[in-house]
Amino acid sequence: MKNLTIREGVIAGIDEAGAGTLETEPFLDCQGGYAVPGLWECHGHLMELGAVSPEVRSMILTNQNLPSDSDWDHHVQDQLTAFLKRGVTHIRDVGGPLDSLETLVQSMRNGQYTGPDIRYAGPMLEKPPLHWASKNRRYPGFTVPIETRQDVDTMLDSLACHGASLVKTFNKFDQDMLAYLLERAVEHHLPVTLDPGCALYHWIPMEYAIEIGIRCFEHAQAALPSVLKTEWRSEIEPYRFSPPESEENRALFRKIMTHSDDVIDRERLRDLCQLMVDRDVCICPTLFTLQPMRTRFTDAPLNAGEALRRKINETFCDLMHTIIDTMASAGVKILVGHDSSFARGVALETGFLSEWGIKPAEIIKGATLYPAQWIGADDLYGTIEVNKIADLVILDENPLDNIANIETVRAVYHQGKWID
Ligand SMILES: [Zn+2]
Repeated sequence: MKNLTIREGVIAGIDEAGAGTLETEPFLDCQGGYAVPGLWECHGHLMELGAVSPEVRSMILTNQNLPSDSDWDHHVQDQLTAFLKRGVTHIRDVGGPLDSLETLVQSMRNGQYTGPDIRYAGPMLEKPPLHWASKNRRYPGFTVPIETRQDVDTMLDSLACHGASLVKTFNKFDQDMLAYLLERAVEHHLPVTLDPGCALYHWIPMEYAIEIGIRCFEHAQAALPSVLKTEWRSEIEPYRFSPPESEENRALFRKIMTHSDDVIDRERLRDLCQLMVDRDVCICPTLFTLQPMRTRFTDAPLNAGEALRRKINETFCDLMHTIIDTMASAGVKILVGHDSSFARGVALETGFLSEWGIKPAEIIKGATLYPAQWIGADDLYGTIEVNKIADLVILDENPLDNIANIETVRAVYHQGKWID
């Protein structure tokens, strides 16, 4: 048992119980509890809490079964409080309009809202036509085209100027343009993460991305094309740059997913894992997003089309399971992120990762230490140590016994303040 002293938002001392003077006010008796560092949502999208048009506000409120004329500030504060109450003290926002997220964070700094620390990427970046173009109608600036070096320069200057902490790239990039973006991002001290966009047809192979300096990948499928057996990779190659939704590409995806033998080259997968460990590369699998695939079409009887869909879904999830399980066993850092804005998303994602065999201690690091390291803030966050910011979650039950205990929250400290 330990006494933990918090002074001016910082962990000032960790002593054996009974030693020294208790300076923390209010003194909180956490006997029998378990302290973990404040949790990070590593793949969030908070644009629904940012500066949105009045029409979009009413739509968001209605979607959440609230009266469309509800008080907006109250709604935003409720959502932010829900994160803190669950011990989520950090959110890594990996895609949303830059001005909207900047406004949200500024409002928190000005004291208008209280909530987790938000580190945002701003827009998704890729070569047009844009994968998420339709989102720009509701959230202008959600996704932005990058075609020239001038576009890269302008965008990175803007990100740096408007408080972004990272850069989010989509897989549809010319290889040399992405390499240029990486160079410029290093100058701005902005880490870059890469989202595969679609499962199979990647313009940027994972090994190349690692070679030029990418140190984080979003979604389990980021590795899929790189670890397929040679015959499948040769079959994909001619279609790699055509639209994923084209009939040829869909047919090839179906063919691979309904193939009866193992399509993964285990040696290639092991080599990729080793490369990730050697270069300190992490992955945020967002298993939450696979849930609809895992639970759909489970009720018999199914017609032929549904049975085929089910087979494809099952195979796809099995492949993702193999990839993530192998990565975790090899010591790759797995981040905890659920790909939306649910306050309970971190807890749910920890449960899915546990179901797939990841050990509780690794899951907790993936929601605390690893994201802090990736973003370059582990001198202040990610562990419970003297001189680190006092972001703490006190649990009633031990999360190392069962990761579901991450939901037994007794108390939360954010920047040294007790969240009542
Ligand atoms: Zn996402």
